[in-house]
Amino acid sequence: MPDEAGAIAMGKSMLTVFYETIDLSGYAVVEVELPLSARLYTDDGLPTEFMLVGILDLLLMDENSEAVVVDNKTAAQTMSQKAADENLQMSAYAYLLAANKYVFPLAPVKCRFDVLRKLKTPKLEIVQTVRTAQDRKRFAKIANAVLEGIDAGIYMPQPNWMCSDCAYSDACRAW
Ligand code: SF4
Repeated sequence: MPDEAGAIAMGKSMLTVFYETIDLSGYAVVEVELPLSARLYTDDGLPTEFMLVGILDLLLMDENSEAVVVDNKTAAQTMSQKAADENLQMSAYAYLLAANKYVFPLAPVKCRFDVLRKLKTPKLEIVQTVRTAQDRKRFAKIANAVLEGIDAGIYMPQPNWMCSDCAYSDACRAW
């Protein structure tokens, strides 16, 4: 059982650090909590029946009038550049932005993770990354492969931090 008072104190401390550290000078805020949807296409450019839906934490415009998508995270560990570069959630956001014409079809999407570290003295770390048109295509290919697997009844448990709240955990354990 987590210590409630300790959790509240940590939450307040994290919010204070976020408020005092975040620096958006040079950026314009375009949207917060931006809901977007887009049809998923196959690798051959054919439309599927599936819509990709997501809500972006924050969309900024930088001094070059280019979109920058920001995902806010809290984490105990620092986020490595490799993890940021390979994060599929961000690839999905980039796909949504390109499909909704926030960037040109073949333009890279500037992305960043604002990671609020859960430390005794919390700390805000910013990790920049980018998603090219090829990255977005790769994301769609992975999504389509997963959907095809689901249609084919293929299932493999992938234990992760969400298991404790998962509505399918009993069925998953019995698999
Ligand atoms: S318990 Fe749920 S989240 Fe965890 S692996 Fe099974 S299905 Fe996935």
